[in-house]
Amino acid sequence: MKTLLPTSTVGSLPKPDWLAPPEKLWSPWKLEGERLLEGKQDALLISLQEQQLAGVDIISDGEQTRQHFVTTFIEHLSGVDFKNRKTVKIRDRYDASVPVVVDEITRKKSVFVDDAKFLRKQTDKTIKWALPGPMTMVDTLYDNHYKSREKLAWEFAKVLNEEARALQDAGVDIIQFDEPAFNVFFEDVNDWGMATMERAIEGLNCETAIHICYGYGIKANNDWKKTLGSEWRQYEEIFPKIQKSNIDIVSLECHNSRVPFDLMELIRGKKVMVGAIDVATNTIETPEEVAATLQKALKFVAIENLYPSTNCGMAPLSRNVARDKLSALSAGAEIIRKELAVKY
Ligand SMILES: [Zn+2]
Repeated sequence: MKTLLPTSTVGSLPKPDWLAPPEKLWSPWKLEGERLLEGKQDALLISLQEQQLAGVDIISDGEQTRQHFVTTFIEHLSGVDFKNRKTVKIRDRYDASVPVVVDEITRKKSVFVDDAKFLRKQTDKTIKWALPGPMTMVDTLYDNHYKSREKLAWEFAKVLNEEARALQDAGVDIIQFDEPAFNVFFEDVNDWGMATMERAIEGLNCETAIHICYGYGIKANNDWKKTLGSEWRQYEEIFPKIQKSNIDIVSLECHNSRVPFDLMELIRGKKVMVGAIDVATNTIETPEEVAATLQKALKFVAIENLYPSTNCGMAPLSRNVARDKLSALSAGAEIIRKELAVKY
């Protein structure tokens, strides 16, 4: 029988200190060459084990083999210079040193397919793989070639589709696209963002998800959130477009966010990964708090469509905190499952 309320993370988990120091973004690798390759695989195994021990139902790779959720993908493409980086403002919020597009974008080799095959061999559970979305990729680099965000997004959608098809063939059950840029550039989402996303999932038979959020719990994001007012209605602008799309699952930040739950009405019928774990605090949620968030979401999401999850990636957290938060997520989902078992 299919698990009711299957739990998952959004994707990233902290890395072991011997591989790359946790609690920071773009954390540098501590190993090189063959040892790095082996170290990444070992970290992937640990990440799998930790998710299983915490009772997580849908397993991710914990993004143990990538330095960053966007730039690592971009650096595997041809047409990109990642040695001579440039500094750009990401999501209109913070400066980051990013790769530069210098020529036509092509995917000459796979990016994560070997990692996915490796993970597939280790577990029979459902596995989910995250890729960056086209719009967020465009927003996380410097373009010196196409000189058009839309044009570049279409190019990325094409290579993302190639990678997604290969991941599907490697046995990945759910492919998730991370699009935090979707709640910043609404007009672009409606003009071309969603269309390029559709191009990225074209021809896939596996399930597809889109993760939109208010970002990792880093200072620039936390400061930005303070400017958004008492109700975060950003999703309202883009949900109608998502509702009509072929995306199966929508991942949303819910716990400790000011997103009005009734906005989920706008994506009625879609599966929803409900973020019930705040990744911007070290405070561990109680199972009851998780259950309360899920209960609120159940007013707008049918129970078979509700996937309890984290608000965003956990890469910037310490390993202990991430571990305890995952256990709380599972325990919270279990509370609801038990309540339902009593009811019926
Ligand atoms: Zn996120």
